[in-house]
Amino acid sequence: MAIKLPIYMDNHATTPVDPRVVDAMLPYFTEKFGNAASRNHAFGWAGEEAVENARAQIAQLIGATPKEIVFTSGATESDNLAIKGVAEMYREKGNHIITQVTEHKAVLDTCKRLEKEGYEVTYLPVEKDGRINLDDLRRAITPKTILISIMYANNEIGVIQPVAEIGKIAKEKGVFFHSDAVQAVGKVPVDVQKDGIDLLSISAHKLYGPKGVGALYVRRKNPRVQLTAMVDGGGHERGMRSGTLNVPGIVGFGKACELCRLEMVEETKKLSALRDRLREAIMSKLDETFINGTMEHHLPHNINISFAYVEGESLLMGINDVAVSSGSACTSATLEPSYVLKALGVGEDLAHTSIRFGIGRFNTEEEVDYVANRVVETVNRLRELSPLYEMAKEGTDVSKMNWKTA
Ligand SMILES: *Cc1c(COP(=O)(O)O)cnc(C)c1O
Repeated sequence: MAIKLPIYMDNHATTPVDPRVVDAMLPYFTEKFGNAASRNHAFGWAGEEAVENARAQIAQLIGATPKEIVFTSGATESDNLAIKGVAEMYREKGNHIITQVTEHKAVLDTCKRLEKEGYEVTYLPVEKDGRINLDDLRRAITPKTILISIMYANNEIGVIQPVAEIGKIAKEKGVFFHSDAVQAVGKVPVDVQKDGIDLLSISAHKLYGPKGVGALYVRRKNPRVQLTAMVDGGGHERGMRSGTLNVPGIVGFGKACELCRLEMVEETKKLSALRDRLREAIMSKLDETFINGTMEHHLPHNINISFAYVEGESLLMGINDVAVSSGSACTSATLEPSYVLKALGVGEDLAHTSIRFGIGRFNTEEEVDYVANRVVETVNRLRELSPLYEMAKEGTDVSKMNWKTA
């Protein structure tokens, strides 16, 4: 079968909507368009019923009850609501929050905002493998600590944090535990009970649902979590998030979660096989390549590899019929190496030449082989032009040379 180009392998950034999800959503644009908050006619009831059905589907995927699901516009909003909502509600109790350095910006920037407002935030470092040290966490907790916010799995390196252990520590100390689980939910088993999570952020468009809809799980007992609302007006979602619900989006979100739940075991097998095939095809043919983050606690569909002795931009340009992300983030106007890789201790050169591969539901073996070949060809071609690579091969210790890049 001929391969269709370009190939999409950037499923941590977003995923295509599953056609089965689109089918479930369609009636809710035109026929069943009622406002789910309209209590006195059939259009409203149909909308409400669809929303409650989706709420149950989402809850089931994470071991929650439907009443604990609060719909939002996406995980950025969920992260904001969780962290700012707890911070404001429990200000009397304390003003200290603990997070870690490789969080998504939705968490880091929210914490920075709170620091400006007088809260204290501890940013735990990560070990070389990408995970926090649990003793660091224990030591960071003070009587003023009200919240621990640690992501489930990282969006760049795919590393899974020791979530259940964190949940246990949080419970022992009587501190709420929020987890940004956008990259994990639907991909690996997530259970808010087993994991001891009190607040959990999810986004539909990272699990084959539509963009612009997400949810925050808010624990209702043992312990009950209360939040100060960030959006006022109308008191929707039990007062935690006002605004007319995005019924078609929510229906799609629910369907996407149901598909993930039913197909996770099979899908994980398929995705990890594709991922291992990609890794083998690349790393068996290229020396001086390094995996970022431990593969022991890892999402099945992710791998992040640095290629020494090539230039990041040239590498991406060389594989421009493949959609992947690089470790050079265009934050503001400058080309900064990824803060996540920096936090692992990856040097700037290697951070710039890293590629994040995010394999998805619709990728095939043929596509994986094509991508691997393109990467190998391109890296070989670029290294042929690299005097540094040549010197390294001849035995010069390039790292000890005193040189500046032009
Ligand atoms: C994508 C992502 C977000 C943001 O989700 P949106 O729904 O796009 O706002 C937050 N956290 C992580 C880890 C993500 O990967």
